[in-house]
Amino acid sequence: MGNDINRRSTPSDTLGVGFQQMFDESPIAFYTCDAEGHIFYFNKAASNLWGRSPVIGKDKWCGSWKKFYADGTPMPLEESPMANAVKTGQAEEKTEIRIQRPDGSFRSLLAFPRPLFDSDGKLCGANNTLVDITEQQRDQVKKATLSAIVESSDDAIISKDLNGVITSWNAGAQRIFGYSEEEAIGQHITMLIPKDRLSEEDEIISNIRQGNRVDHIETVRVDKNGRQIPISVTVSPLKDASGRIVGASKVARDISDRIRADEKHARLSAIVESSGDAIISKNLEGIISSWNKGAEKIFGYTEDEVIGKSITILIPKERLDEETVILSKIRNGLALDHFETIRRHKSGREIPISITVSPIMDSKGQVIGASKVARDISFQVQANEAREKYTRNLEMLNTVGKSISENLDVQGILQRVTDATTKLSGAAFGAFFYNNVDREGNSFQLFTLSGAPREIFEQFAMPRHTEMFLPTFVEKKVVRVDDIRKHSSHGKNAPFFGMPKGHFPVVSYLAVPVISKSGGVIGGLLYGHPEPGVFTAEHELLVVNIAAQAAVSLDNSRLFEQVKSLSEKKDEFIALASHELKTPLTTIKGYLQVLAKKSQDDLSELFLKKSLNQVDKLNTLVEDLLNMSRIESGRLNFNIEVFDLKVMLGEIIETFTWSAQSHKIVSDLGNSEAIIEGDSQRIEQAILNLMTNAIKYSPKAEEVYINLEVIDDEVTVRVRDEGIGLTNEQKEQLFTRFYRAEDTKGISGLGLGLYLTKQIIDRHNGIIKVNSEYGRGSEFYFSLPLKKKKIKNAKVV
Ligand code: ADP
Repeated sequence: MGNDINRRSTPSDTLGVGFQQMFDESPIAFYTCDAEGHIFYFNKAASNLWGRSPVIGKDKWCGSWKKFYADGTPMPLEESPMANAVKTGQAEEKTEIRIQRPDGSFRSLLAFPRPLFDSDGKLCGANNTLVDITEQQRDQVKKATLSAIVESSDDAIISKDLNGVITSWNAGAQRIFGYSEEEAIGQHITMLIPKDRLSEEDEIISNIRQGNRVDHIETVRVDKNGRQIPISVTVSPLKDASGRIVGASKVARDISDRIRADEKHARLSAIVESSGDAIISKNLEGIISSWNKGAEKIFGYTEDEVIGKSITILIPKERLDEETVILSKIRNGLALDHFETIRRHKSGREIPISITVSPIMDSKGQVIGASKVARDISFQVQANEAREKYTRNLEMLNTVGKSISENLDVQGILQRVTDATTKLSGAAFGAFFYNNVDREGNSFQLFTLSGAPREIFEQFAMPRHTEMFLPTFVEKKVVRVDDIRKHSSHGKNAPFFGMPKGHFPVVSYLAVPVISKSGGVIGGLLYGHPEPGVFTAEHELLVVNIAAQAAVSLDNSRLFEQVKSLSEKKDEFIALASHELKTPLTTIKGYLQVLAKKSQDDLSELFLKKSLNQVDKLNTLVEDLLNMSRIESGRLNFNIEVFDLKVMLGEIIETFTWSAQSHKIVSDLGNSEAIIEGDSQRIEQAILNLMTNAIKYSPKAEEVYINLEVIDDEVTVRVRDEGIGLTNEQKEQLFTRFYRAEDTKGISGLGLGLYLTKQIIDRHNGIIKVNSEYGRGSEFYFSLPLKKKKIKNAKVV
């Protein structure tokens, strides 16, 4: 390099050759340039610093590759410290610049450029001394970083000398222990140590003296307020430049939160362990990762048997889909609440459970698995089933009770009872044996049967003839046997022992007597099943209850049958009596009519007329009775003819106007004829009944109103009065046999008129109705079809 140096103005020019060498070899970088900035001398240290050698006479101002200000902004060549010095003719002090070498490395340096003047005092160039401060700066940065770390640390970072006197104290220490830096420095470290732990310090110091580090000991310290703080502490020896131990640095971490978390964790674990519910966790693949005692109790597997296995070992095959659904919910961060399902016990037994599955998330909120709480709900399920069964039984009892109490037909009652009880008791078959004596003298006949074909029973002896049934039918006892084959006496007797081929197989057996109010056995209900132990005490109770209800209904039904037959006898009597009365009445009437023709004096004539009137009334009554019994026995005959109802009604009104003195008949029969087809005498009888009633039941009124109108193909006749009227209740019963309202006292009648009228109108395909207001009057009206239509049920004689 020496050859390249321009000797025109080297240090030797001014200072001599000895100096030249000194500059060349100096560890301080040095170079010079002329007034135009051309570098004409640089020493080794300078080219080392720049990482290159500038070209003498060509490179200007600075020999470095790239230059930057201290803050990193690129520095143009003409702004370099050397250029400034030449420009201003002033020396510059300590200008800090950064340069980059061609190898890419950076150096920091201080430049001390000075202008050079020739002997005439004219500026002829400048020299520059460069001091490399790279290392120094690194150290500074490192220190600043370290102290920033120490200051910003959450941990307490404290140093002390070997006597235990505190020599440094960071913000973390202030936060944890409460003392400020001023308060702490110079104090003895024992101010932080509880009395009972002072010996710890001696031990720590003796370790430190030996150059050992004390790592992560967990202990307790006290803060400024005397509060104890759990900490984890690491103490390291502090050495001076020569390696001598001069103290200790101590990093203390407040572990209250961790301890609280540990305690919480311990508490939670205790809860999980002591829970009666199964608490299980699994990952997103469904692999079991935790398993508590409750899970062991419910599912039968120990923790060791299941950890690492798939949760599907608990899921019945047909429910495997559930797990896919559950996992997909969990993956989406959704929980599943109180889902009722079935899981399998280790033994294979199925257990009804209610499960709640929640996602487990990591600290970033990512789902990493699921926790599952499962509760065995067998008990609830059983209780629910029992309740439902009870409700079903009650409903069944209710329905059976209602239907048998509404029913008066024996066969119907017994069939319902047999069907319901067979179903309720779970029997394979049920039968009722009725206490009737059949032609062969057998007392108990099979009456109704449920669950088995009748032929099966018909080929065997009737139950009374067997030992087995005596207690039920004779002693009136309930017999319930779980396994008839093992029974001491019944097992050896028919129909269960040595039974003929084809006999219905019976192992479980239940028999309940049906006892009448009078105490007699109406019959017995028998149930059988080919398996043992089918009938329980509960079944027995149910059947006994239904049997009691059935007994009441059967008693009623018997009573009903008796009443029915009595009523039939009464009807027979009425028919006979009225028939017998009719003949003498006709004779009496005939004689009276003969006498009336021959009568001489007014008094006899009057008496005969009155007698004839009474005979007519009596005749009508007997006729009504006769008609009633004809209707009841279906023997009321009709003589059908075609006639004009309007003409007939006119005649009736005329007759009435002559005979009825009490009321005026007000009529409006319209203009149209009313040709109908029917029995004119019966229709007349119906109209007379209505008109007689209208007069009879309006004693205080003076008029009754008759009206006839033809609309379309129908004729309607209305008979209206302003009499005593009818209540709604009375209206409902009007047309039944022998019905008379309570307020008819003093008005004669049998209660047959309206009954007969309705029968007549009905049989002519008509309808009869009443409008009435109690105390204000009534309107009875009937409609009949005009001729074109045929008369239903009317027999032509
Ligand atoms: P009877 O008149 O012989 O009692 P009915 O069969 O003709 O028998 O009538 C039955 C009952 O209906 C009567 O007893 C009476 O209470 C009531 N009734 C019938 N017609 C009328 C009417 N026009 N007004 C009030 N009540 C009536």
